[in-house]
Amino acid sequence: MSQIDTLPPLREVIATHQLSARKSLGQNFLLDLNLTAKIARQAGDLTGCDVLEIGPGPGGLTRGLLAEGARRVLAVEKDSRCLPVLAEIAAAYPDRLQVINGDALEIDPLEYLTPPVRVVANLPYNVGTELLVRWLTPKAWPPFWQSLTLMFQREVAERIVAQPGSKAYGRLAILAQWRADARIVLSLPPGAFTPPPKVSSAVVHLDALAEPRFPADAAVLSRVVAAAFNQRRKMLRASLKGVSPDIEEHLVAAGIAPTERAEQVSLEAFCALARSLKPLG
Ligand code: SAM
Repeated sequence: MSQIDTLPPLREVIATHQLSARKSLGQNFLLDLNLTAKIARQAGDLTGCDVLEIGPGPGGLTRGLLAEGARRVLAVEKDSRCLPVLAEIAAAYPDRLQVINGDALEIDPLEYLTPPVRVVANLPYNVGTELLVRWLTPKAWPPFWQSLTLMFQREVAERIVAQPGSKAYGRLAILAQWRADARIVLSLPPGAFTPPPKVSSAVVHLDALAEPRFPADAAVLSRVVAAAFNQRRKMLRASLKGVSPDIEEHLVAAGIAPTERAEQVSLEAFCALARSLKPLG
């Protein structure tokens, strides 16, 4: 293994600090620094960027991000056992790593970040989807982040990049692809992690678009898509009945057959439906 910094190898760090992985915190660590540097590179050029990392754990990815030139890394970690290890990394990269001990679902990192911001994380699986949805649905667009480079269970990664007509296609695909370019950039087998999870993983990279791909009111699109995929086996005229009493007319106006099922409807057509329901001013 080539050395990316002067800090000890991660296996040694884990042993010294007795960092046994906790399932309740979704802890599956990446201990190969070549791999963490590779993940950091998928985020694009980090120089001149602040990086938000959720769940640094023993800091393998953190070290990759710093070695790849991130201007600053803000790392939010819930497990206080990791703090001494992260402090050693902070000492090796003066003024470039700030660690917040807390729950990423409760902390607002914005006050600590200076744009441009990239988010890079080997996310705890139990909170990954929720964080992604929050990052994709800010009050205003463009969001605080320029890109997201995130590890997910393979099945979740496939839902993010899914196209119409596939089983994986649903609310997550629409949310992600409406205002971002999303692609899977790396696949990892369970054995890449310590301890190995039960399933394979993949890294998804999302670049925020300056403008939505197709115009639509965010709240209306969100309501339509949630209702459509909540009852994905039903025809849209039935699953969307609660959205508007005239839903058949709106479906036709958007070029969607009322007998269609959600799975077949493109992002562009969902946006047309949202505009028919609430024309943009
Ligand atoms: N980034 C490290 C790596 O790649 O080896 C650890 C990844 S591990 C999959 C997920 C990390 O997220 C753990 O360190 C865990 O303690 C932390 N974590 C879990 N839930 C969290 C939360 N709600 N907020 C912040 N960190 C959390």
